[in-house]
Amino acid sequence: MEKQTQTTKDESKRGVVLLGKYEVRRLLGVGASAKVYHATNVENGQSVAVKVVSKKKIISSGFAVNIEREISILRCLHHPNIIDLFEVLATKSKIYFIVEYAAGGELYEEVAGKEKLTEDHARRYFRQLISSVKHCHSRGVYHRDLKLDNLLLDEKDNLKVTDFGLSAVKNQIRSDGMLHTVCGTPSYVAPEILAKKGYDGAKADIWSCGVVLFALTAGYLPFNDYNVTVLYRKIYRGQFRFPKWTSHDLKNLLSRLLDTKPETRITIDEILKDPWFNSGGYRFDRVLVKERELEENRTGFKIKSLNAFDLISFSTGLDMSGMFEEISGSGFMERVVSGEKPERIVERVEEMVKGAKVVVKRMENGDGAKLEGHEGNLLGLVVVYRLTEELAVVEMKLRGREDECSALFWKNKLRPLLLELAHKQEVPVSR
Ligand code: ADP
Ligand code: MG
Repeated sequence: MEKQTQTTKDESKRGVVLLGKYEVRRLLGVGASAKVYHATNVENGQSVAVKVVSKKKIISSGFAVNIEREISILRCLHHPNIIDLFEVLATKSKIYFIVEYAAGGELYEEVAGKEKLTEDHARRYFRQLISSVKHCHSRGVYHRDLKLDNLLLDEKDNLKVTDFGLSAVKNQIRSDGMLHTVCGTPSYVAPEILAKKGYDGAKADIWSCGVVLFALTAGYLPFNDYNVTVLYRKIYRGQFRFPKWTSHDLKNLLSRLLDTKPETRITIDEILKDPWFNSGGYRFDRVLVKERELEENRTGFKIKSLNAFDLISFSTGLDMSGMFEEISGSGFMERVVSGEKPERIVERVEEMVKGAKVVVKRMENGDGAKLEGHEGNLLGLVVVYRLTEELAVVEMKLRGREDECSALFWKNKLRPLLLELAHKQEVPVSR
């Protein structure tokens, strides 16, 4: 994790009141996509963290997808061990995410300072981590980037999972026809992901939890090497060595978490029954989580799951008008949530353009297509973002709002197809 000391430029932000509401205090950290500041709500004095992302950064690097997804995912996850998203503000050049403030800093610091934690201390964090992961998984959301840098602490030494920016999109981030590969931290990545086999998000998260637990109790990462090829080989083979102080029960649990075969790797339910997990006096407390009432969606039909509701509201209800104007340009752009398979969506587009003067060029990974004119000029894009195992966001863009041909193509072809792809019935919820 890059660390930055406060520069004069950052200092100058101090005392600034954002949109009349949040007084910016100090720089907390710098991540891959954002600068994070401590701030206070001027109305009630509440401490918050403000994650600032410049729109330029979004546009130039394909982060837009990430950011929108981060919003939609955070909005539907409320848990005592997950950083809550309060609101999203935007100015012409910046987007501000107002999130829960974690006063205890990074868990990483704690380990770096002490070299390792006692097993009892590590168990407390690990239970909180598993509680949050269980919560996400039961809602069909997989973190996919669990690592020490994404684990923060509050003032009471409780764990807070952050950085859902990469969730559900690893290696799938696209913007304007470009494939952007997001580099996760290889040390935490499960072997089946490296093998590019297609994987179960739940199992991959459990592997990462194993790496976290190992690092907490050993003081070093189980798989580490300067040479990435060597590192990958170690991960594939599940080659790691316990420090000599590791207890028998912890060794058993770690071996089950860091099982290279996802099929036999321990599940969350098994973790909850594990002897090491349950030793040390306290049992796993079921965390009571405030559930939001099931709501009726705008079109009137009932939806089973909060998660699915939020995903759908993301497609139509998330009002970020003007926030991504540079991306949508002067053309047409619309998104829906669909239960159709990404491959099938692209096929439907191909069937739909038959007879029109448009060529469909599939994107390499199959989750989208470019629409080109006969001279190879880019007319539009269809992009499919996988949200969960069953749901995807389909985004269609077309150039040239002023052009009559474009307008007709949008009205008669693209948009009707998009609406057909949209979920109309009850949404199946995974798990
Ligand atoms: P990115 O998504 O760009 O990687 P992060 O969310 O990881 O950004 O934030 C970068 C750093 O800022 C973190 O490592 C942490 O030190 C600090 N930080 C982030 N969110 C919070 C928060 N809610 N409370 C306190 N510090 C935070
Ligand atoms: Mg980060």
